[in-house]
This record gives sequence, structure tokens and C-alpha cells, in this order.
Amino acid sequence: MKIHIDLDCFFVSAERTIDPCLRGKPVGIGGRGDTKIFSHEKSRQFLSLKNSGSFVPAYFFEHQSTQENDLNKFIDPDGRIRGMLTTTSYEARAYGIKTGATIREALQKCPDIIIKQPNMKLYQELSHKLKHFLQKRIPIIEQGSIDEFYGDLSGWVDDADVPEFIDQLKHEALEILDLPLSVGAAASKFTAKMATNDAKPFGTLTIYPHEVNDFIKEKAIKEFPGIGRKTERALLARGIVTLGDIQSHPDIFLSTTKSQKDLYERVCGIDNTPLQESRERKSIGISRTFDPQIDRRELTRRVIILSRHLSHALVRMQKHPTHYTLSIRYELSQKGNAAITINRLFSESFLRETLLSLFYQADIHDNLKVIRIGLSCSAFTQSNHHTFSLLDYDEDLIKHKLTQSTSSLREKYGLDTLLWGSEL
Ligand SMILES: [Mg+2]
Repeated sequence: MKIHIDLDCFFVSAERTIDPCLRGKPVGIGGRGDTKIFSHEKSRQFLSLKNSGSFVPAYFFEHQSTQENDLNKFIDPDGRIRGMLTTTSYEARAYGIKTGATIREALQKCPDIIIKQPNMKLYQELSHKLKHFLQKRIPIIEQGSIDEFYGDLSGWVDDADVPEFIDQLKHEALEILDLPLSVGAAASKFTAKMATNDAKPFGTLTIYPHEVNDFIKEKAIKEFPGIGRKTERALLARGIVTLGDIQSHPDIFLSTTKSQKDLYERVCGIDNTPLQESRERKSIGISRTFDPQIDRRELTRRVIILSRHLSHALVRMQKHPTHYTLSIRYELSQKGNAAITINRLFSESFLRETLLSLFYQADIHDNLKVIRIGLSCSAFTQSNHHTFSLLDYDEDLIKHKLTQSTSSLREKYGLDTLLWGSEL
């Protein structure tokens, strides 16, 4: 069988490992677009590439909370409370405070709620510890996100022994890592994930193949991992409301596209999707959301800052990208994108010039305010590869070496050590 492991209210549980006073209390972790990166003040920053979970950012800011409540960090000089909650404890959920609620709403529902600033470095360290813990006990592990893993028990634990195995796993994780988690087990990883949701908090649930139909019958289609709002709307329009409705309509799903057939098999728990063990990184990106910004000079400054961070990551990874993309999100849900493929040996100045020109290209609504910028690089190649443009190779090689020495200085003294004049 396959299992799905998910930490219970992870960010709150993580804070509780270092501050036991938070136990048993309503707690929320506030998230506000991390804009410290653009601040003119210096702050200690870290780059981390060791954890490949898709929701794990690569950059961190040193963060040490000395007080129990960080609410003041979310109050603007004008007295307005800003920000929303990325995680809430079960005690807070009892007041009807859900993930995604604004901090203002949360305080209205529960004035005693403790608000903490996120500490991504701590969360990543604990996520890594959990991964090691699981790898020691289960042969094949796939990481789904920072706090979510799949494991394949086939040939390792007999189906009949799975409930006992996952119950032990849960207790052992609490004892060793001090983190509560829930585990679901089933033949399909998708059924296992739904079982985890039902088991939460600090629970386990095994769904054997003959139990799948009853298990999914009454569940709303949106509860299925992979049915987003768009698919949900399309299915509802056809009168398909529950997962049981999907299961009882093979005629609709099996005769059309491959993705419809896949959906049908996954919902019914009869797919055989294997786990994907952590693979090599195929791309790396950095993006930030911020308060609406109209000033194009400030926006290009931000592109330069983000590209400096990306450059440092590429040097650390020893990768040479050949494909670059930049995306802009505006107010009013407008978007702009641009991409380019170039075979040039990577250097920081080349990356910066490339991304700046992509920004000018992508910025199609220059009368609108921008709320997010994202950069990414992919299609990695080797530095000794012949595909690099020979015309520029000698000059690029000098720039590439300069980039490497710049990065080793930054590694030692912090990412803000050497800046481009245009960033100031
Ligand atoms: Mg979780």
C-alpha cells in the first residue's frame, strides 16, 4: 500500500517545538509578502538548496522572535492591521478561523489569538528532519510539499499490518521530532491523501481497496486532490456533485481524453501512479508578491535584486541555464510573460541584462500597478558544452569567473555584501 503523511498545522507545531507556551492555545502564523528583500536596509539572508519540496522557498531571512506575540509586526504605521494567516492551530480553527483568513478577521473572532511571524528556516530544518526520519523507515519516499510526504510500503509492510505500522509511525514522530502528524493509507496515493485529511488531527486511517467506493461516495468533488475550481465548475455543470457520481459514470470519463480517464482511475483508487523519489532540480526560480507598485524604476530595481539572488543560487548549484522566463502579475488579474532561450555561458551581468530585457518585454500594461514579479531559469547544460555561442565565449568566461568569485564572497559575508550600483 501507499501512505500519505502530513504534519498537523505544521508552522504552528514547528513554533511550539521552540516555544512550549504556545501549546493548547489559538495561534496563527502570519504571512505577508516577504518584501525585506527589496528594503534599502541590510538584513542577513540565507540561500538553501537542500530541500526540494515544491513549496519550499530557497531564500530565507534571519528571524528570531523574542516575544510570544508578533502582532505588532503586522500593524502599519497608520495603525492598520495587515496580512493574512498561512497556518492556524486547531484551537484557532475552533473559533472558525481558517487558513487564508486576514489577521483582522481572526482578531475579531478570537481576540486572544497569538500571531507569529513565519520562520521559514526553522520550518525547512524540521521538514528535512522529518524526511530523514521517514527515509530510515520506508524504502521509497516522495516529498509532496514542505510538510507532506508519500511512502510506498509494497513489499515492505504486509497490507494487513499497515494500520499498526502507520499508528506507530505517528507516535514515533511525535516522540522523536516533537511534531504531530496524520497518516492515510490506500492502494492509490490519491486515496491515501484523502484518508489523511479525514484522519486529521493526529490520526491514521487505512482504506482497503474494497472500502474505496464507500469512502468516496458522499465526498464533494472538490475534496479530490487535483480537482481545481475550473474542473469543479465543469463537472457541477454536468450534474456531477460527489466523487461517487464520478465513480458511477465510467461512460462519461473512460471514453474521452486521457486526462479524464486518469481522473476516473485516480478517484476510484485503481490507478497505479508510482511514487517519484526526489529528482534533480530541473529549474530554479524566485518570485515575490508586494504592495501594488507603479514606479517602473523601482520595479526594475526589484528585478535586479531578484536576479542577484537567482545568480547566487545558480553558482551554488553549478548550473548553466539556457532558458529564462519572467512573469509579471498586475492588479485587476492582468498578467504579462516573456521568455527567451539563449546558449550563453551564464554570468551575473548576463543574467541581469537578460531578465531586464524580458521585463521590458513582459510589461505590456505599463499603466497598471504590479503586485508580483517572478523569474526562473531552466534547461540546464554543462559549462564545457560546445553549444555556447563561440563568438561571446571568451568574454563570457571572464564574466562567469567574476560571478563565481563574487558569489563566494557573498556566501561568506551575506547576500547583500556586493550590490549593483543600480540597486541603490
Ligand atoms: Mg500539513
